[in-house]
Amino acid sequence: MVFEGLADKLQQTFKKLRGRGKLSESDVNDALREVRMALLEADVNFKVVKDFVAKVKERAIGHEVLESLTPAQQVVKIVNDELTALMGGTMSRIAISPKPPTVVMLVGLQGAGKTTTAGKLALLLKKQNKRPLLVAADIYRPAAIKQLEVLGEKLEIPVFTLGDKEKPVVIAKKAIEHAQAYANDIVIIDTAGRLHINAELMDELKSVKQTVRPHEILLVVDAMTGQDAVTVAESFNNDLGLDGVILTKLDGDARGGAALSVKAVTGCPIKFAGMGEKLEALEPFHPDRMASRILG
Ligand code: GDP
Repeated sequence: MVFEGLADKLQQTFKKLRGRGKLSESDVNDALREVRMALLEADVNFKVVKDFVAKVKERAIGHEVLESLTPAQQVVKIVNDELTALMGGTMSRIAISPKPPTVVMLVGLQGAGKTTTAGKLALLLKKQNKRPLLVAADIYRPAAIKQLEVLGEKLEIPVFTLGDKEKPVVIAKKAIEHAQAYANDIVIIDTAGRLHINAELMDELKSVKQTVRPHEILLVVDAMTGQDAVTVAESFNNDLGLDGVILTKLDGDARGGAALSVKAVTGCPIKFAGMGEKLEALEPFHPDRMASRILG
């Protein structure tokens, strides 16, 4: 379960704090030292942890909290607020274009869950009465096109493909014309992935971006890779510019370091979280609910 280790540690820390009744400054400092350790053990970015603890400390050490009748609860509330803020504050949605189709470009490395997420996102949007079109532009992973076709069939969502001989730019362009002709209001492009970030990948994605001018470029990244996910997000954001991140495999991420660091490090909000292999297992990312999950 996501945040399992962090949740256990923080809940223990705050239980101890509650047991003390009135708090001194050093009680709060001790608790914050434990919070700091717990965040580092959860693989949260070092600088993010430092800033986070400083912010909590600034708010927690003062008359208002220490003199209050329920100081421990106040500290927990501050930590809750700051965790929520750290993950982006409020939920971030996909920007729907007033002039359809809205074009969503999914980018990411191989194995991150990009193709599966394309299907999941299409299903989520279909349930909101949209008419998505899936576009198979991942021409480098041999099975990706077939995989998307199978997903589309299962979900009863159309899939646009031109095989693996055309360039992604051509596929994307023709797909949008197709969407216009068939009244698909959302186009989800499963772009080409690679095993690693390289110039060739970025150049190709940039040319797709320039040609189709997507409304949303979302990076699909594996939460279980922790700070590597954050580094990948930084690179894609610097090279391509991202509108948001979809964190996959959060269901298997007991630590939660990526979820807690991505927004602070890159400035890009997490828009969705993959919570399992099932096609229904994609959820809008709610920072406040995630914070509550951690604090119990
Ligand atoms: P791609 O190479 O990025 O297109 O990756 P795929 O879409 O083929 O996914 C790689 C693997 O990750 C597959 O086995 C997916 O079922 C799995 N996967 C994707 N998203 C999630 C998720 O949110 N949770 C879990 N547990 N598995 C996922």
